[in-house]
Amino acid sequence: MLKTIERTKEIIRLRRIIDAEVKRIFQGAREQLDENGKVIEQIATCGECGTSWNDALITSYTPTPSARCPFEYVHQEMRELRQLQRKWNGELQKVTR
Ligand SMILES: [Zn+2]
Repeated sequence: MLKTIERTKEIIRLRRIIDAEVKRIFQGAREQLDENGKVIEQIATCGECGTSWNDALITSYTPTPSARCPFEYVHQEMRELRQLQRKWNGELQKVTR
């Protein structure tokens, strides 16, 4: 039980850090429109964290220089969160079998 509480707290801690960073990056984002008034989408995906974003949005982080990820500062937290969730899913599957 304690283990579950500790893990839940850790997931919440990591999520707060990641969400705050994503919010900070896209705060005040401006869309670019094509000649027909349609929002331009240039979807990019990070090879390290697997997160996708519209790189045509104008923020202080996007468009990103090539091979850069706007979420670089929270890669470590994203990695830890994925590991925790994977571990937890594995244990849940064992219990429900
Ligand atoms: Zn990334």
